[in-house]
Amino acid sequence: MNDCLFCKIIAGEIPSAKVYEDDKVYAFKDIHPQAPVHVLIVPKRHMANILECDAETAAALTDAIRAIAVQEGVDASGFRVISNCGRDGAQSVNHLHVHLLGGRALPESMA
Ligand code: 5GP
Ligand code: ZN
Repeated sequence: MNDCLFCKIIAGEIPSAKVYEDDKVYAFKDIHPQAPVHVLIVPKRHMANILECDAETAAALTDAIRAIAVQEGVDASGFRVISNCGRDGAQSVNHLHVHLLGGRALPESMA
């Protein structure tokens, strides 16, 4: 029924390196890390991207970002959160996800 890659990861049908989990959120290491810390944070309920994100889910994602930043030791040094949306945002997986990147000095430019 659901052919979504991240839904399969959340369900444990596809293995992932879990970093964090609560009742609303699952987080795991990106398979192609762009930084020493590169975590994907996803709502357990399927939604395509940030355009479909309700306030409760946004709050749960924010709480998870904070907890993961502390857990991964980048809260003091700093980090970046990115959520690619749609074609021009280069979103490749159509299940809302936030990238948390850190562990090195990231370039100023995002483009
Ligand atoms: P997007 O380009 O949609 O913002 O990000 C999708 C991310 O998912 C990419 O950074 C990519 O490396 C990651 N990714 C794609 N397939 C898998 C997978 O099977 N496992 C994990 N852990 N990450 C994946
Ligand atoms: Zn999904």
